Amino acid sequence: MPTAVRGDITTQQVDAIVNAANSAMRGGGGVDGAIHRAGGPAVLRDCIDRFPDGLPTGEAGWTTGGDLPSRWVIHTVGPNHRAGQTDRSLLTSCYRRSLEVADELGARSIAFPLISAGIYGWPKDDAIAAAVETISGARTAVQDVRIVAFDEGTFDQVSRRLA
Ligand code: ADP
Repeated sequence: MPTAVRGDITTQQVDAIVNAANSAMRGGGGVDGAIHRAGGPAVLRDCIDRFPDGLPTGEAGWTTGGDLPSRWVIHTVGPNHRAGQTDRSLLTSCYRRSLEVADELGARSIAFPLISAGIYGWPKDDAIAAAVETISGARTAVQDVRIVAFDEGTFDQVSRRLA
């Protein structure tokens, strides 16, 4: 079962934080921008080296955490609901694939943002439900899985869903 945390994902003391990236994998707004700012240029360099053609929606891949407290950033590309990508299996795939990558890395702790729930416009309630269901149902060796909510209202919603 995941736990809910309120705050900025870039300050989480975990082995890996997850980035809600876009398929170009060259940085962007929202949590993506915050992670690149805090991680510094090494994160972008690694994105360019490891993902020259970007990453498809629903997939995940890792880079260094650069200057972040976490050793790795696991980048995953959520569906852009606002642009008509409403296939929910793409959203649940982001959580499943990120946990698989974490297992490959040997990560023991991971922090997720609410993928697609910001700029990509996935309805917040369902974005939370998809996160909680998928993480709870996954077979993973990661012991500490956190869902990081940026604001108090979202934190309350995630906490209620976990109760
Ligand atoms: P997407 O494009 O996948 O919708 P966003 O970055 O726009 O990604 O938003 C995803 C979620 O992350 C939103 O709920 C947003 O409020 C939240 N968020 C934005 N910045 C941060 C941050 N620094 N730490 C944690 N969550 C954040």
